[in-house]
Amino acid sequence: MECNVCKKDTVEIFEGIILGRYKVKYYFCPHCEHLQTEKPYWLDEAYKEPIAPEDTGILQRNLNNRVVTASVISCFYDGDKKFLDYAGGYGIFVRLMRDVGFDFVWADKYSQNLFAKNFEYNNDKIELMTAFEVMEHLENPMEELERMFSISPEILFTQNVLPLPVQRNWWYFAPNSGQHISFYTNKTLDFMAETFGKKHLCCQEYHLFTEKDIEQEAFEQVIKNSAHVYLQNAVDYKSRIASDMEYVINLKKS
Ligand SMILES: [Zn+2]
Repeated sequence: MECNVCKKDTVEIFEGIILGRYKVKYYFCPHCEHLQTEKPYWLDEAYKEPIAPEDTGILQRNLNNRVVTASVISCFYDGDKKFLDYAGGYGIFVRLMRDVGFDFVWADKYSQNLFAKNFEYNNDKIELMTAFEVMEHLENPMEELERMFSISPEILFTQNVLPLPVQRNWWYFAPNSGQHISFYTNKTLDFMAETFGKKHLCCQEYHLFTEKDIEQEAFEQVIKNSAHVYLQNAVDYKSRIASDMEYVINLKKS
């Protein structure tokens, strides 16, 4: 099977059981270290429930992502510009970021927008895109990334990088949900960034594809000290809770 990232030949490394009944082959690319399943024919079934009830970490994760994202924006980006949470799920993160004061909008092909209604992406110019828990869902990462870069030149995302040598029982394969089909090492992510003329920075599970002059060390410092940076800088922004309410009330009137 051809690698969905670098297009070179992959090798089959093991077989897993997805959604409790589909025997599925996993292919590893020795060139870019991308790991992918065979062509995923089970996705309709896997996405019947876009956000799994087992996902008890959903709120804590959003709160953590808020602290990190607000810190990254306050240190490296123009906080007065527009931001997009790509594949934004129920809209929890967009609402949380607007609560701090950032003009975040929402987009998601699969999920219903519950918490950020009226703040959908509308072809606006985007300063930075966030994409949490997205990359492992992509069947064609390069095509999707091209689409994402056409919306925003900068992408902050989370990704648990694939540990080598590959262990077939790695928890992140999450075969019971059937939604995780693409896996990456830092080498894969470097390759992807370079293909699009970007730099790949990483710290813990946070990654940044950027064309800005941001040093790896500076990115690391901000991520590692984000709790502190957040508290120090968030006071500079004005919460949009009240102004958003007014905006939505006026929309209803008109
Ligand atoms: Zn490859």
